[in-house]
Amino acid sequence: MSRQTQALIHADALIHNYETISALTPDSKIMAVIKADAYGHGAVNVAKILQGRCPCYAVAISEEALILREAGIDEPIVIFEGAHQPQECEEAARLHCILVAHNHQQLDWLTKTPASRRPPVWFKIDTGMHRLGFDLADIDKVMSEYAALVTAQTVLVTHLASADDLSNRFTQHQLDKFAALQQRYKLNCSIANSPATLGWPGTHAAWNRVGMGLYGGGPLPQLSAGSTLKPAMTLQASIMSLRTITSGESVGYGQTWVAPRKSVIATVSIGYADGYPRHCPNGTPTVVRGQRAPLVGRVSMDMLNIDVTDIPNVRLGDTVELWGSQVSINEVAKLAGTISYELMTRLSTRVPRVIV
Ligand code: PLP
Repeated sequence: MSRQTQALIHADALIHNYETISALTPDSKIMAVIKADAYGHGAVNVAKILQGRCPCYAVAISEEALILREAGIDEPIVIFEGAHQPQECEEAARLHCILVAHNHQQLDWLTKTPASRRPPVWFKIDTGMHRLGFDLADIDKVMSEYAALVTAQTVLVTHLASADDLSNRFTQHQLDKFAALQQRYKLNCSIANSPATLGWPGTHAAWNRVGMGLYGGGPLPQLSAGSTLKPAMTLQASIMSLRTITSGESVGYGQTWVAPRKSVIATVSIGYADGYPRHCPNGTPTVVRGQRAPLVGRVSMDMLNIDVTDIPNVRLGDTVELWGSQVSINEVAKLAGTISYELMTRLSTRVPRVIV
């Protein structure tokens, strides 16, 4: 590794978060959501770290499941989007995966797949998110038309639109709609994502689908359970250049920051091509030698600048934390006008993930 830019992946934090969340939901099993390369942490890394604790993983698409199987991960894997092509039905069975079906086309493909080469099927139901899932009004027809696909292991799945807002009554509205179905079919269910698992005990069911909670990027950090989760990633880089500029001089493209005083500017080895958001404004915090150093000027492709005037003894090669335990990724995301999910998943492949 030439430059010291890396994402440290904290195995102990992942395990701590998994155990903390499991303790909150003793009657549910936790499925670790490791789609999108485990939100940038490395799906194989995370699956291996949780192996022996976590009974099931979830990905979005079959290619992600294949990567896990090739890396020797044996636990059941749920594919959230089901099949995009008919041949993926048999492929899912071959990989010992579970498909979540959300439309008639997928159910037709599954029906045409010989029973011996058919994967287990879960059914996604739309209770108000209006993204994927069968309409509640049609579900009885679907379940009888495709009865051959329903077994005692079938799980009814729904997804919540606003579980990260504890005051939003829509979550209860979705739950009420789903409850009638639960009663009628007596099948296992899966409703909760991380915010619901942390903040809405009424959503806990046979399977809770937990992604961000594992990574410690605070859904509902205001809850005591949420606040005890630890960041599983530290994004860090190092100082590659130091200079002193006088009051009135500017820094970076477009001269968007002008020094209000004589200032020491450190150039840091990370930019938007690495996944650090270009939209971060002046003042976005970083940490050097345990002290906050604000971003100054526009983020470039490979570098950014910070003001270290008030930090004594800063040297070339010093480590800079962009997010982690000293700088909350939620804070950076908010300043960049986005959410921690996007920052984690956009971290580029140029940044080595190093398990510590
Ligand atoms: N369930 C589904 C269907 C999802 O799409 C996702 C993530 O986007 C999750 C669960 C996990 O959500 P979270 O990361 O908030 O736990």
